[in-house]
Amino acid sequence: MLYGKDDQSKARSYVNPVFGSPASDRDIPKYKLNPESIEPRIAYRLVKDELLDEGVARQNLATFCQTYMEDEATKLMGETLEKNAIDKSEYPRTAEIENRCVNIIADLWNVPNDANYLGTSTVGSSEACMLGGMAMKFRWRNRAAAAGIDVSARKPNLVISSGYQVCWEKFCVYWDIELRTVPMSRERMSVDADAAMALVDDYTIGVVGILGITYTGQYDDIEALDEKLRVYNERAKITVPIHVDAASGGLYTPFMEPELRWDFRLENVISINTSGHKYGLVYPGIGWIVWKDEAYLPKELIFKVSYLGGETPTMAINFSRSASPVLGQYYNFLRYGHEGYRKIHERTKDVAVFLAKTVEDTGYFEIYNDGSRLPIVCYTLKDGADVRWTLYDLADRLQMKGWQAPAYPLPEALQDTIIQRYVVRADFAMNMAYEFAEDFRQAVDELNHARILDSDEPARKIHGFTH
Ligand SMILES: *Cc1c(COP(=O)(O)O)cnc(C)c1O
Repeated sequence: MLYGKDDQSKARSYVNPVFGSPASDRDIPKYKLNPESIEPRIAYRLVKDELLDEGVARQNLATFCQTYMEDEATKLMGETLEKNAIDKSEYPRTAEIENRCVNIIADLWNVPNDANYLGTSTVGSSEACMLGGMAMKFRWRNRAAAAGIDVSARKPNLVISSGYQVCWEKFCVYWDIELRTVPMSRERMSVDADAAMALVDDYTIGVVGILGITYTGQYDDIEALDEKLRVYNERAKITVPIHVDAASGGLYTPFMEPELRWDFRLENVISINTSGHKYGLVYPGIGWIVWKDEAYLPKELIFKVSYLGGETPTMAINFSRSASPVLGQYYNFLRYGHEGYRKIHERTKDVAVFLAKTVEDTGYFEIYNDGSRLPIVCYTLKDGADVRWTLYDLADRLQMKGWQAPAYPLPEALQDTIIQRYVVRADFAMNMAYEFAEDFRQAVDELNHARILDSDEPARKIHGFTH
């Protein structure tokens, strides 16, 4: 064995503090690949630093998406990132766990015992709505042709409240469907069943009821829609079904208002979607859809992938994606159980109700949603409020304390009304709510005494993330 002088120069480079490293000491190319590699710990720090001024997710009152999961859930998800949700033969246990989740959710939505329901995980509600919409379109076309309707004479249509989430507009554009919207009114911030029925005809692929309108958090009266459609369908040439977009309510209402009839208990509800990453309490990247019976999912939309020598039916737009959010969803179901979900949602609701009261007590605001249903607080400035500031100014003030609380106009027919909305999530504990309340009252007080720049420009802008 021969030995030479110990070369320390390489080792020494690892002793450098992160901010003394050559990589941190220059402007690394950002829009072209850097020619050299850099150490992992330095790359980690540089990326983290890029995110420094992004705002604290926990203080973001704009989003419905989960911003907290338990350490064990995060660990589990981190350890399963490589599992591909589409690959049922390589990961059969993961496939079984997805299957359990579909069954748990179908049960929460009161699927009839004798129904051959089908369901799948998706990337989120947007993909789930796309699948639900496609099923309704294909099923309509098959049945309309059989009923002697000229399917090429007109575009098929979809009926939905004007408070729809943008995914439905996408669905209609991508699939060449006419989007027929039922305007919301000030008195009724959800769908008017009679007005919806006036838009229904032989070319209607379905009516979408929304359990948790994105703008205000209100629920459509899906039972009323179902009743109207029951009467309509008795004499219609072609029956019209309901799909429920329960992105935010689907994993909230079953625990909080089990008696509310909005789900598969209703005759005409044939499919429902939800976002696991909203009140399903999982980090972003998971949605679900269930069809009440296989009859509602046309066969031509189902593709078979080979699986352990057999074939598994799949229905998806995406192919490969990580299964870790599916496992995160199962972790939550297993960990919290029915009682756990109910208690978490109960606490979240208490915080929303408290915040609504805080806002109302100032006397300046009219409350549209007081958090007593979905834990969403939504309000506008009272017509006669004697103030020189707007909700946009208030949003800016709250932002100074790190709170993101968006202000934005309501949709069609109500677009002159600017509202502010807080989405309360499980990680917004009452203790934090008291601090927010303090910041809120202070913000209002500061605005009352601030030098405000008056402008003749009507205050209408999109402020923050509204969908
Ligand atoms: C959030 C939301 C969606 C979109 O859900 P993603 O999971 O973000 O794709 C669709 N519809 C409604 C009513 C929503 O609130």
